[in-house]
Amino acid sequence: MPRITVIGSLNMDMVITTPKIPVIGETVLGSGFAMFPGGKGANQAVAAARLGGDVTMIGCVCEDFFGKELISNLANNGVNISHIQKTDNCATGVAMIVVKDGDNLIIVDPGANSKLEEQQIQNMELIIAESKMLIIQLEIPQKTVLKAMQLARKHNVQVLLNPAPASKLSDELLALVDICTPNETECEILTGITIKQIKDAEKAVRYLNKKDIPIVIVTMGAKGVVYNQGDKIVHKKATRVRAVDTTGAGDAFSGAIAVALTQGVALADAIDFASMVGAITVTKRGAQASFPSIEEVRAFKAEII
Ligand code: ADP
Repeated sequence: MPRITVIGSLNMDMVITTPKIPVIGETVLGSGFAMFPGGKGANQAVAAARLGGDVTMIGCVCEDFFGKELISNLANNGVNISHIQKTDNCATGVAMIVVKDGDNLIIVDPGANSKLEEQQIQNMELIIAESKMLIIQLEIPQKTVLKAMQLARKHNVQVLLNPAPASKLSDELLALVDICTPNETECEILTGITIKQIKDAEKAVRYLNKKDIPIVIVTMGAKGVVYNQGDKIVHKKATRVRAVDTTGAGDAFSGAIAVALTQGVALADAIDFASMVGAITVTKRGAQASFPSIEEVRAFKAEII
């Protein structure tokens, strides 16, 4: 089976609900505390593995409790964890999420994610070279991202960049991308084009094509996706579902596109597949908890046809 290598972040998300946001120096009683494995890298690795992909994750955690938990969660989802790096001079990445009346306050400490260095990626050249596709995001240092992409290009490995969190990127880096999957916000930051309507996304796709990215797929939530098939721009509507929590939809979409394309599925069909995966994800709460298995996608497809 074609191997997918994911290079990216691993975080432990800690969620607590509060009736009141405390002021400086104040303590309040919250409720419903829970921890969820996250990080865009790990999320995309899990999404692809649940869909039947042969997935190897490269990332960095600390040798602490959360680091061990995150690694065992990936292993339990069938992701190859042998190349995850461990550091002992900081903490594993965490996100502290405070929820009040459905709104969030979030503090992220990237911790070990920011210790994933170019040299460690250089040491993984063979792993990258033996992959069919590299999936990468921007929650690790940008120099590390560039190094990984350069190695992928050297070995003719396709690069899928999910450019999240939203950042401006150099033309040098963009030219190393084969497939780019920004959401509307990420697309605006990348291109400087405000994305309100489908025609704005079309403009942005053209702009990124001109930056030497052969396939650009702008994900637009319930509005679906706008992408290019060669010179032709296509708008694919989203599958209509009752959305309860959109967390992780983009991660599920990127993982799914990678699985389909590496298995030789044509682009339009791969987009259909990933859109179904995104739609299923928003019908359930949580990020990884809502990613479907390949069997769930088949059952969903049978229902909507
Ligand atoms: P992100 O999570 O990065 O913001 P999106 O919200 O654009 O990404 O979601 C990715 C994809 O998931 C969408 O392009 C669409 O295919 C699917 N999706 C997201 N939200 C919905 C929704 N409310 N209804 C149906 N499909 C959705």
